[in-house]
Amino acid sequence: MPNAGCTQAANENEEMKIPGKLICLSIFLAALLFLAEGALAGESGTVSCAHPGCGYQTNLSIGGGRKSPSVTGYCAKEKKFVRVKLQSWEDYRKPQKCPGGKEPLQPIYGGGEVAKILCPKCGNLSLSYKRRLMFD
Ligand SMILES: [Zn+2]
Repeated sequence: MPNAGCTQAANENEEMKIPGKLICLSIFLAALLFLAEGALAGESGTVSCAHPGCGYQTNLSIGGGRKSPSVTGYCAKEKKFVRVKLQSWEDYRKPQKCPGGKEPLQPIYGGGEVAKILCPKCGNLSLSYKRRLMFD
């Protein structure tokens, strides 16, 4: 936790309380920003395949609301995008399993990562993601 080192730093700087507090504040703000960008804000968009004649398209949500931690990913064997519910946001970057199987989930933390996934319909590396809205 970011607060762990703060108390200690403040004590060491007994004569310089303000800089100590500023450092703590910066750490706190950085942690907030990280959480907000990495997990708390969700977004929703469309995945579509650019391969001629394929026409694959699906809706995709990435991240999620504060109160419903979940991670989006792709299951290669089942050839589908899934959302796996998490116990808490702390698990967001930890490895997850696909629902109902032992297959590891390939996590998608940002729309750009969709480009690394083979199209479930035509098998080409031609997927792209377009964000449509943000939520939290
Ligand atoms: Zn395709």
